[in-house]
Amino acid sequence: MKLYQKKAQILHHEKVGTVYFRMGLAFDDLARSARPGQFVMVRPTGGCIPLLRRPLSVHNLLVENGEVCGFELLYKVVGQGTLALSGLKAGDVLDVLGPLGNGFSCPEEIRNVFIVAGGVGVASLYYLALHLKKQRAVWPTVFLGGRSAADILCLQELESTSTKVDITTEDGSMGQKGLITSSVQKALTVAKKPDMIYACGPQGMLKAVGEIAAAHNVSCQISLETVMACGFGVCLGCAVEKADSPEAYFHACTDGPVFDSRDVF
Ligand SMILES: Cc1cc2nc3c(=O)[nH]c(=O)nc-3n(C[C@H](O)[C@H](O)[C@H](O)COP(=O)(O)OP(=O)(O)OC[C@H]3O[C@@H](n4cnc5c(N)ncnc54)[C@H](O)[C@@H]3O)c2cc1C
Repeated sequence: MKLYQKKAQILHHEKVGTVYFRMGLAFDDLARSARPGQFVMVRPTGGCIPLLRRPLSVHNLLVENGEVCGFELLYKVVGQGTLALSGLKAGDVLDVLGPLGNGFSCPEEIRNVFIVAGGVGVASLYYLALHLKKQRAVWPTVFLGGRSAADILCLQELESTSTKVDITTEDGSMGQKGLITSSVQKALTVAKKPDMIYACGPQGMLKAVGEIAAAHNVSCQISLETVMACGFGVCLGCAVEKADSPEAYFHACTDGPVFDSRDVF
């Protein structure tokens, strides 16, 4: 797959709730080739903070006059790099490299799909839901979870691409109170077993979803958001231990970020 790098212009950039931002970037050739689950490495230009690019998932495609003209990012401000991003405005440029990583695999035969998104993990999964709907006519069941209502993102967008959106918050401020994994567990016991579960979110959530999927004998692809310095297999900083052979490692940037959950948990 071809890799693109350029200083891409920011088309729009807005705050979503308290700590989340959505940014549109003009980058047509990258957007046209990006698959759901792939990511880009980004860094503001003209300064030294942060020194290294940061990985963010392709969240949505931008289309103008029927032509793909760019893509969107959805990110949470957690530290220096994302804080620096949040200060940029429409018209500024961002150093962008991508698309990187393997992306989700969508076998022909899948019909009944669960998507499990913890917090900003929804960034890559929304693009997947759109892809499943448009390219496969598959309408997934979506589980959205977060600490509170402020962490429930893309609700309206997902309602138009799924059969059902099931919401869980830890403090009960939106949807059911509890952990998203309890909702997934419950659905697997009462609903028709899905052909595939796709998940992205905090590591603990991904491990639990992987275990639930294995217990119900359902295939499960998880997207890992490991700390990553280069994004293309040079620094080897994003090592992930293989489940079946301790002291043997995958690298999330080139072998992932999407894995069969049984390979890593
Ligand atoms: C393939 C991939 C796709 C990603 N997609 C998105 C996305 O679409 N939207 C989004 O908001 N984030 C995404 N992330 C996570 C994002 O890259 C990090 O939040 C970001 O790099 C943090 O940079 P920072 O400089 O703001 O924080 P730093 O200053 O680097 O770190 C601040 C704090 O956050 C912790 N931290 C940093 N990175 C991570 C991480 N990946 N997981 C858990 N804790 C971390 C650090 O340990 C530290 O405590 C993705 C990560 C990967 C690997």
